[in-house]
Amino acid sequence: MTENKKVLFTIFGATGDLAQRKLYPSLFRLYRKGDIDEQFAVIGTARRPWSDEHYREVVKETVASLKPTEEEAEKFASHFYYQSHDVQDTEHYVTLKKLTDQLDEKYQLNGNRLYYLAMSPNFFGVIVQHLKSQGMMDSTGYHRVIIEKPFGSDYETAKQLNEEITAVFSEKEIYRIDHYLGKEMIQNISAIRFANNIFESMWNNRYIDNVQINLAEDLGVEERGGYYDKSGALKDMVQNHVLQILSLLAMEPPAAFSDHEIRTEKIKALNAVRVYTEKEVHENFVRGQYDKGTLDNKDFPAYQQEPNVSEDSTTETFVAGKFKIDNFRWSGVPFYVRTGKRLTEKGTRINIVFKQVPVNLFKARIDEPCKDKKLPQNVLTIYIQPTEGFSLSLNGKEIGQGFNPQPVKLDYRNSAEAVENSPEAYERLIFDALNGDSTNFTHWDEVAQSWRIVDVIRHAWDKVDPDFPNYAAGTMGPQAAFDLIEKDGFEWIWQPDNWYRERGLLK
Ligand code: NAD
Repeated sequence: MTENKKVLFTIFGATGDLAQRKLYPSLFRLYRKGDIDEQFAVIGTARRPWSDEHYREVVKETVASLKPTEEEAEKFASHFYYQSHDVQDTEHYVTLKKLTDQLDEKYQLNGNRLYYLAMSPNFFGVIVQHLKSQGMMDSTGYHRVIIEKPFGSDYETAKQLNEEITAVFSEKEIYRIDHYLGKEMIQNISAIRFANNIFESMWNNRYIDNVQINLAEDLGVEERGGYYDKSGALKDMVQNHVLQILSLLAMEPPAAFSDHEIRTEKIKALNAVRVYTEKEVHENFVRGQYDKGTLDNKDFPAYQQEPNVSEDSTTETFVAGKFKIDNFRWSGVPFYVRTGKRLTEKGTRINIVFKQVPVNLFKARIDEPCKDKKLPQNVLTIYIQPTEGFSLSLNGKEIGQGFNPQPVKLDYRNSAEAVENSPEAYERLIFDALNGDSTNFTHWDEVAQSWRIVDVIRHAWDKVDPDFPNYAAGTMGPQAAFDLIEKDGFEWIWQPDNWYRERGLLK
């Protein structure tokens, strides 16, 4: 690590929201822990004509909530340099190169360079071409590039973008961010699966009935209406985060816990996800857009009334669907996914629903609430956010006379303190990129296959005008999302809306 952490970060988009909200605080946390030390420097570039002094003040403000001492903040910020720069303008790269060489010398960085493209993907191609043509890739150390989502808006645009980037950086040097992969409990999926024989031995279609992946947001589009209205939930969430989580759940055990082995298995899993025909899309996927609604006595506007959203927008703010994985392990096990905005509660959680025992010995004895004489199913739940942890529901015997099976839940949550002190997703990911570890970044083959899967859904939907809006803000999506799973004889395990309905707080 010692050699890797001597590095010059060049952040394109240094005045932007991402840089200020995520990158500077993450760099500060790394600095505080000694993961980067005095031998690092940051060049921030963007269009605004800021001075180094002003930039350092901004950086200090962005880390103020982490409560550094004045001296600590001052020392940290002294590593930051600003260059006003229009990425389209070749001249600016000449000055950038000069500053790069100077800082390399001043901080003894051995030519190690990490470029962070925190701006619109439209500019990625032009930036990397200039890095090459202006000789910024010629230093002796490592050269890596971190790229933000969205990576293209369909397979074709992603492929073109990838060609532009790979003309300069090799696949090994490209770190495509999916910040979900930086989350503690996403990384924990592998521990739960591969460090517990009781789960891994049952992780297949003999024992698992269905898998449910939920990425629910309680917020609306907020100030992101302009971007979101062009994207929608399918591209914004399913193509990347949802399919990444699915591949971690579905992959075969890797031969070793290394980036190469894990990514190889994830790619194989994605390749086994069925790419639907148009007819299958309509059978297996539903979309929604929120209408106005009232939850817990608070009123929320409809999506079409949000700022920067067109009044007759047909963009989906909700997707639910069923993926099928055509391999020996998963054949016949539906992977249900559900994601959307303005749902009842914020929560990312996975439910692994196990099959019933082959014979229910207690059938005759079961009273309410198991009217259908079925035992409650065993469910392993992985809580990713906002709480982190996992639970397992089992059936025990109700205390007392007779023999009534009763579900009990073994529940573990990381403490608030552990969550608070655990590295933030961006901190982990920057740390990994410094170490040259791409396990938690997406490989081009994963991006490409995810687009192939999602493109057919998009094309099928684009041929039919949706009947929007179709769910009230504060609910868990349109009725069609419930019908989708119920027609298979299952139900969503997570139903936070019921709690509010029972109390008259949601219609
Ligand atoms: P932003 O609009 O807040 O910032 C964009 C930055 O790019 C600004 O610093 C601006 O000065 C700079 N810029 C724009 N045009 C330029 C030009 N011609 N030359 C030089 N600089 C120019 O955007 P953001 O929210 O920080 O997002 C940046 C990237 O990260 C986007 O690709 C976005 O999709 C992605 N992203 C952001 C978030 C987030 O939380 N903000 C989350 C995930 C992905």
